[in-house]
Formats: sequence, C-alpha cells, structure tokens
Amino acid sequence: MKTIVFFLFFSVSLSYAQQVQFERDSTLTTKDTLFFSIKNNMLSPMFFIMNPKENIPKEIQYQRKTLLKPSEKQTHFVKVPRNMLEHDSALVDFNKYFSFKVGYGDPNTAKHTDDYLYLLPYKKKRKLIQGNFGRFSHDHIRSFHAFDFGTKIGDTIYAAREGKVVMTKESSKKYGRTRKFANFANYIIIQHDDGTTAAYYHLKFEGVLIEKGDLVKRGQAIGISGMTGFTTTPHLHFVVHTTSEEKGNISVPIQFEGYVGKKFRKGKKYKRRK
Ligand SMILES: [Zn+2]
Repeated sequence: MKTIVFFLFFSVSLSYAQQVQFERDSTLTTKDTLFFSIKNNMLSPMFFIMNPKENIPKEIQYQRKTLLKPSEKQTHFVKVPRNMLEHDSALVDFNKYFSFKVGYGDPNTAKHTDDYLYLLPYKKKRKLIQGNFGRFSHDHIRSFHAFDFGTKIGDTIYAAREGKVVMTKESSKKYGRTRKFANFANYIIIQHDDGTTAAYYHLKFEGVLIEKGDLVKRGQAIGISGMTGFTTTPHLHFVVHTTSEEKGNISVPIQFEGYVGKKFRKGKKYKRRK
C-alpha cells in the first residue's frame, strides 16, 4: 500500500511543514475519489484553516477549518476527484488551490496572561537586532511582537516561561537570506498553562537540549543558539503566540522581568537582570 506524504509549503512567515501534513489515505480511496487526511505532529492542539483560492476547481471538497487534538489525524479532510490527476501517483499541489493558516493551541481557551513577566531567554549582554514591528521580517501578524536577540552561536538558551515542549527541530544545518529558507530553522515550541506558546528559533544543528513532551521550568537550559533558517546573522527569534479562529497564530506583546514598562530598542544591549 502506498502512502504519499504531502508536505505543505508556506510562503509567508515561518513554515509549518514539519508541524502539520496531509497524507493520501489509500484505504479510503475509491475508483473515483482520492481522500486526504490531515495530521497534527505537535503535542499541542492545533487550529487549521484552509482558505480556497479563486482558481479552485469546484470538484475539490474540503473542510474549511478544524481543531486537531495533540498528534491527532483526521481522515476525509480533503476529497479530490481522481480524474484531476494525470496519473495515479501524481502529486496534488494544495498550495495551488488553498492558502493555509495554522494556530498552535485551542482558540477557545488560549488567553495570554498579559502581566506574566518573562525571563530574557539568554544570560549574557546581547544586542537587540530587530524589535517589535521590525521592517526586515517582523511585518506579519505572526511576528509583529517578536524579538531578535543577537545571540552568538553556542550561547545557551533558557526557557523564558515554564511549560510543555510541544515541538522541536534540530536536524538542519542550512540558512539563507530569503524567506524560502524559513523551512530550515531549528526551533523549540513550548506551550504555557494559559494555552499560548513561545517559539525559540534559529537554534544550532543538534542544539535542542530537551525532548518533545518534557515539562520545562522557567530558566531551564533548553537549547543552543545558532544560525539556521531565514537569517542573515546569528540570533534568537523569540515570540509568544495566541490563536484565533480567523487568523491562526497571532503574536502577543509581552513583558520581560527587569524591564517592565521599558520599550526594547533596536541596537541596544540587554542582559538578564536576575
Ligand atoms: Zn525575527
């Protein structure tokens, strides 16, 4: 039996290709119709939205949105008439017909605790190389409230807040100066008790010190800083997300301990005050 895996490619923002995937479901496939299931590879709930593009053939049937439980696979998610394919093993490029939005966490319950004081996720004095709403790449609803700290390759990264490790990647060695390299970032995603998630990006190859499923404490060493993915210089991209039914992940403004009420400015150095 043949299972073909369809990785999604996202052109906007960071990629979700490792976090969610479509699979052709051979057992359900009939003479006329191909069925695709959708699988959540994360240990957090995931809200998934498919927005049809104008050119979508009316024969394609799909669920516009769904809430996936941790690691859940849902069958019958997309139906495609077999006669749309040139040959049986041809790939269906869903990117041609849909744009996708993903939200880690349950939009019904995730609500950011705005007065939580995050720990700076590194110890040494490091420069902020891009702040909130930075024009280089913090120009999207997923990244407006992100921070790029100019950590050095090899710096230890610490959990800014306690939570459950819901996804990690450390297999990449690649980086590049354009968004198409976003897929190659190593990262850790931690879910907090208010349902929001923190993402720590651009870690070193094999630079993840904890395991998916671990409960980590605030201040626990979790990773090693590096230079993977869409980046021009070594740094840590740090962002906290909530989830909305309409928009998927949305970055939220946060406060760091020792810097309450202070605006973080590009080019200035910040050190953990604790
Ligand atoms: Zn960034």
